[in-house]
Amino acid sequence: MIPVVALVGRPNVGKSTLFNRLTRTRDALVADFPGLTRDRKYGRAFLSGYEFIVVDTGGIDGTEEGIETKMAEQSLAAIEEADVVLFMTDARAGLTAADLSIAQHLRSRQKTTFVVANKVDGIDADSACGEFWSLGLGEVYQMAASQGRGVTNMIEYALTPY
Ligand code: GDP
Ligand code: MG
Repeated sequence: MIPVVALVGRPNVGKSTLFNRLTRTRDALVADFPGLTRDRKYGRAFLSGYEFIVVDTGGIDGTEEGIETKMAEQSLAAIEEADVVLFMTDARAGLTAADLSIAQHLRSRQKTTFVVANKVDGIDADSACGEFWSLGLGEVYQMAASQGRGVTNMIEYALTPY
């Protein structure tokens, strides 16, 4: 089976930027992939010898109403069907209440989760990323999705069998 990698996090952290980068030249949607519904945005990705399905979601911010509730439901469903979750945060914005509530959910689901601190371009990444360790999900991977920085490393970490 091709692993399914879900991009999860609050709105505006860079999930779609990463999705577009991962699926760039191969953005064929894979709606017919077995076991997946059509409600999230799926793409097929090939990177560093790995082939995987990547799932983009609208985002969860913890205060959902109306259409946003739908978006959060999509994110929760994406977590359920994923083999690996890339939990994206914004290193510039810092840790937020929404990040903490998403982290709590991921810990309760016991999903294989990797914390990504995105947007580390042009900032002191090490000091900006320190606080994300308090999410309680282990190592914090630095990324600048819009620059492609850290993307290959992240996928190698996340998909190497262990
Ligand atoms: P999403 O809501 O999580 O899908 O976030 P988007 O992918 O739409 O990105 C939100 C904003 O963050 C956009 O303006 C992106 O250009 C910007 N962004 C995404 N990745 C990076 C990054 O690595 N560095 C910087 N500086 N901006 C980024
Ligand atoms: Mg998006």
